[in-house]
Amino acid sequence: MIILYLTKQNRNSIYSLLGILETYNYFITKDIIIFEKLNNLTIKHNEKHFFFFSFCTQDAKNHYSILQKLKNICKKSIFVCGGPHPSAKPQECLNNGFNIVVKGEAENIIDEILKINEFPKIIESKNKVTLDNYPPYPLKDPHYSLYLEITRGCPYNCYFCQTTKIFGAKPGHRSIENILKYCEILIKNNLTDLRFVTPNAFSYGSEDGIKLNFTQLEKLLFSLHKLTYKKGRIFFGSFPSEVRPEFVNDDTLGLIKKYCSNKKIIIGAQSGSDIILEKLHRKHTVKEVFNAVEIAKKHQIKVDIDIISGFPFETKKDILDTIKFCEKLINTGCRIHFHKFMPLPGTQFENLKSAELFPEMKNFMNKWIGKGLVYGKL
Ligand code: SF4
Repeated sequence: MIILYLTKQNRNSIYSLLGILETYNYFITKDIIIFEKLNNLTIKHNEKHFFFFSFCTQDAKNHYSILQKLKNICKKSIFVCGGPHPSAKPQECLNNGFNIVVKGEAENIIDEILKINEFPKIIESKNKVTLDNYPPYPLKDPHYSLYLEITRGCPYNCYFCQTTKIFGAKPGHRSIENILKYCEILIKNNLTDLRFVTPNAFSYGSEDGIKLNFTQLEKLLFSLHKLTYKKGRIFFGSFPSEVRPEFVNDDTLGLIKKYCSNKKIIIGAQSGSDIILEKLHRKHTVKEVFNAVEIAKKHQIKVDIDIISGFPFETKKDILDTIKFCEKLINTGCRIHFHKFMPLPGTQFENLKSAELFPEMKNFMNKWIGKGLVYGKL
């Protein structure tokens, strides 16, 4: 059997993996078991199984602990891992007991992985994945689906983020026909709220991910709207994805108003200090965030703003600039989604230490969290 460990954090990856496995003729129940709690896993311990784990850095310790318990009872099984953390720290995963680590994309090499018989092994796909070649969820049971991945890869290479490192700088887009095909199946199965995974929703169709491809974006949203006209809702540029500020303009927001159900978008701003934005390699300015919010206001679209603080190089002035920036945005009706900086493996900031938040930042957060205008963890 192929056995998948499902957690709150890896749900979308595991559901996508079910779709990928289906293309290799492995099906839920017949060939695949999913478990969330060890106590609920009923398998023959003396048989050889393939355990697949997919995890991010925040979930790594939990996965190592489950792995140890499983290795004690399933001595003949093979333990495979992939996802953001294993891609960046393959040797650490082997040291913790995994037999096979998949670096980067797994789609094209599932057969190869299942045939490996020399361990430990780090395996990496040579060819970039074409999203159209794999369903985003298992067609036999579309209820194993959350969000549809429409774009993979990001050209911006922000120094705190793993996306460019794992998937490369050149974006690959799922075609409109392919997106419609899978959305139609979801709707037929009464899964009517359509949400998408993409590094920057408004970059859909863009060859380099930097230049807006309005024609393709409009075609996508128009087609989705047509598909969902009687039944279904499109959420675009909001959870679980976001948009970059410089992609927000009258045209892109016009599409949200015309074709989508969300009344809010999420803009990745990350800091209210241009000095910090430059250090993060964000490639946009504070002014561009204000412009984007102004345009959204004109279109009566609400905005949540992503902010990160706790970088060790932030000065008191940077923090005060960010607080001022956030307060201005709150006063125009935005909400702030706060993230504490966490150095992620494989990124340029991997070796930095997360700094204690300045008291001014804590005070700012405490003041607004109670009012529901700032959310996130301190
Ligand atoms: S933070 Fe967003 S824009 Fe920057 S590299 Fe990651 S996905 Fe791309």
